[in-house]
Amino acid sequence: MLQSIEARTGAAIGEHWAESTPADISAAVRASSAAADAFATSSAAQRAELLRALAAVLEADREALVALADRESGLDLPRLNGELDLTTFQLRGFADVIERGDAHAFIDDAAVASAPPAGRPHLMRVRVPVGPVAMFSASNFPFAFSVLGGDTASALAAGCPVVVKGHPAHPGLSRCTAALAQKVVAAQDLQPGVFQFVEGDSVDVGVALVQAPAIAAVAFTGSFKGGTALAKIASERPRPIPFYGELGSVNPLVVLPAAIAKNGAELARTLAASICLGAGQFCTSPGVIVVPKDAAGDGFVDAFSKALQATQPHAMLSAGIRATFDRGVAQWRAAPQLKPLVNDVVDATVQAPRPFLAEVSAADFIANHALHEEVFGPAALVVRVASSDEAIDVLKAVGGSLTVTLWGAEAESDATHRLVRAATQIAGRVLFAGVPTGVAVTAAQHHGGPFPASTQPFTTSVGYAALDRFLRPVALQDAPSWLIERKGVPC
Ligand code: NAP
Repeated sequence: MLQSIEARTGAAIGEHWAESTPADISAAVRASSAAADAFATSSAAQRAELLRALAAVLEADREALVALADRESGLDLPRLNGELDLTTFQLRGFADVIERGDAHAFIDDAAVASAPPAGRPHLMRVRVPVGPVAMFSASNFPFAFSVLGGDTASALAAGCPVVVKGHPAHPGLSRCTAALAQKVVAAQDLQPGVFQFVEGDSVDVGVALVQAPAIAAVAFTGSFKGGTALAKIASERPRPIPFYGELGSVNPLVVLPAAIAKNGAELARTLAASICLGAGQFCTSPGVIVVPKDAAGDGFVDAFSKALQATQPHAMLSAGIRATFDRGVAQWRAAPQLKPLVNDVVDATVQAPRPFLAEVSAADFIANHALHEEVFGPAALVVRVASSDEAIDVLKAVGGSLTVTLWGAEAESDATHRLVRAATQIAGRVLFAGVPTGVAVTAAQHHGGPFPASTQPFTTSVGYAALDRFLRPVALQDAPSWLIERKGVPC
């Protein structure tokens, strides 16, 4: 059963309703499959029009959508309005990108009349849409990583129909957004299968969707547990399919002595705000803060702890996410290696969470694998290091991460070379200023990283390169002139 819930009070909003049945899921996938060929051969202009119409409809219904998102998520109106702006920007951005020809870009190698290996046939490398994409929405971005978020925008831009699974933490908003999308698809005279929607609060719905034979790829944003379970199912199908999973991440942030000397007090406040932003429910939230073990480092940790102590996060997205956060913090509290720095206990049934911060030595952190896991919410660990080489050991212990932030790496040296190398080896994005909790949508963006940040580290789920996930390369050898003249547009 699905039920819309007020995130701030836990009260039910309206009546509950049934989740999608196996027959509903089969029908959605069948419709998607029936629409795939026509949609794959639609022009970039047609798809750009669809993407812009989806952006327009979100804006037209902004007030009602944002109000509902606020009730179901507790994320507050300014944040949700900003997120809706990001979502429409992204939809329109993909429209611009495909109109420029990016989806149909091709490589043309002219024939060479000579003996091999120098001699060769004419080869044209084009890309074709993979087919119906199953898309899993995340709880923590009700717009930007949800029904009409980046995964849907990039799949539609590539010419792939989508079957979206709404997230049960904002089921009412997911339904409303899906209904708007379906109206837009109908108004554009596209087949209904171009956009399909299924919903559920049990894992059965997602499992059935990934197992549906006509699904050609999966885009997932969510937890390590959910992502790895579904990735296994995708790989064990009779016909395994690509699983683009963006999972949780601990996002280490290294504070070098130069940064503390320059503006440590301001950075301490910035960091506290980043950890509590959206009650810490960001996949890019800094969860491991690496600080030198010296007097300046002590001063930074003290200022950071005070700033965090003075910050009150808002309620979390759902009772389930709050319970998982409380369990994670309880495990940290029980770890003998940790020295708590911000550690208020509150009544989980009536109060928003308090931030949690604890300090640990580099050696204890490295030795204790449980400390490397994401605690999704306003919590972080300060890891004290004696040298930049020890900071590198901490990064290596963390492993794959969406981001690494290096504050104070302005001066070039052997040490900064080694730190940057270590950061780029484990992360999809390396920041040298600011905090990792914002992810700009641009052509250069990379939102992924080595496992477990992503199940496909060569791809991104944010930015215009996200399109590449749904276009499969094909080399056309000695193709007839009519096919060459299509210049990469699928037929
Ligand atoms: P989640 O609990 O994994 O849920 C995501 C989706 O997966 C839901 O539709 C859920 O359906 C489904 N699901 C989960 N486990 C499943 C299983 N075993 N089998 C089938 N379906 C399953 O994650 P979330 O609450 O949306 O988000 C929180 C997590 O997402 C955090 O770890 C955060 O860091 C991460 N995140 C990552 C990114 C990124 O870009 N890398 C962005 C945002 C969030 P049910 O709820 O119906 O089970």
